Amino acid sequence: MKALVFYEHGGIEKLQIADVPKPTIGADDVLINVKASALNHLDLFVREGLPGLKLQMPHIPGSDGAGVIAEVGANVRGLSVGQRVTINPGLSCGACEFCLAGEHSLCPDFHILGEHCAGTAAEFVRVPARNVLPIPDDFPFEQAAAAPLVFLTAWRALISRARVRAGEDVLILGAGAGTSTAAIQIAQKAGARVFVTSSSDAKLQKAKELGADVLINYTTHEWDKEVYRLTNKRGVDVVFESVGAATWLKAIRALRRGGRLVTIGATSGPNPQEEIRLIFWKQVEIIGSTMSNQREFNEVMKLVLRGELKPVIDVVWPLERAQEAHARLARGEQFGKIVLTI
Ligand code: ZN
Repeated sequence: MKALVFYEHGGIEKLQIADVPKPTIGADDVLINVKASALNHLDLFVREGLPGLKLQMPHIPGSDGAGVIAEVGANVRGLSVGQRVTINPGLSCGACEFCLAGEHSLCPDFHILGEHCAGTAAEFVRVPARNVLPIPDDFPFEQAAAAPLVFLTAWRALISRARVRAGEDVLILGAGAGTSTAAIQIAQKAGARVFVTSSSDAKLQKAKELGADVLINYTTHEWDKEVYRLTNKRGVDVVFESVGAATWLKAIRALRRGGRLVTIGATSGPNPQEEIRLIFWKQVEIIGSTMSNQREFNEVMKLVLRGELKPVIDVVWPLERAQEAHARLARGEQFGKIVLTI
């Protein structure tokens, strides 16, 4: 089958299209004929190499994908060949205390499709049947591929972990990130007033169309001070933080007393300058969040499939343009998801 692969870690030049063996499935798996695969920052980290990440080479990246079921394992019930589906990219053991408690992303074996195992940037991908969600006949594959990782991440972070409620102020850092385009819509739907930062007025304008209320260009304004001013020196109730080192300290400054910061990533680096006094004196909560459990995935995808939350697609390119796609994401030029069609 045709697949995007790399044989060793490194820059975008390591990516190539190759002919590799089609995966074989186990009794609890399905094989999906992938129609669309969407990029995440994780794809860049996996390509570059992460500490402790040992991959079988060549590796096929890609966490998000949608397509048609091509084969069904012997034990699988309720799914059939030819069904159109999308994928929950969070893989867990299903048997540990956390999985049994319904907290799949706390599983000690938790990993993400395309991170340790072969991903979606290929003609076929193998996934456990419980990670598959049928989609309506008229729901486009590009949108079905673009939605899962960012929407399930933003949903758990804002709704379950940070407990966003109607009337609260929520600050989302960096308007263009896929997770931000999901977070803006989710916070707005929860009844919050949504603050967004970006270096680009064009991206801020697009964020406004998604439901953002307060737009802050951080190249012309010091955004933490601007948040302070716009909230009458109160600060926001919740910060949705995915940037990391570059924004961390200011994000805590932008919180109200007793506010909550939920962190889901660190695209600018994992080791920020820290000011512990701000944390205890303001009594803020620092909350970690990763991916989601099965319930949260189903909750948010129900809204996506009904059209109440909309996946934001930056570009749709053929798989052959994967190098260009990785470069675009690395430079932060995108607004929303970069989708590759196969
Ligand atoms: Zn488990």
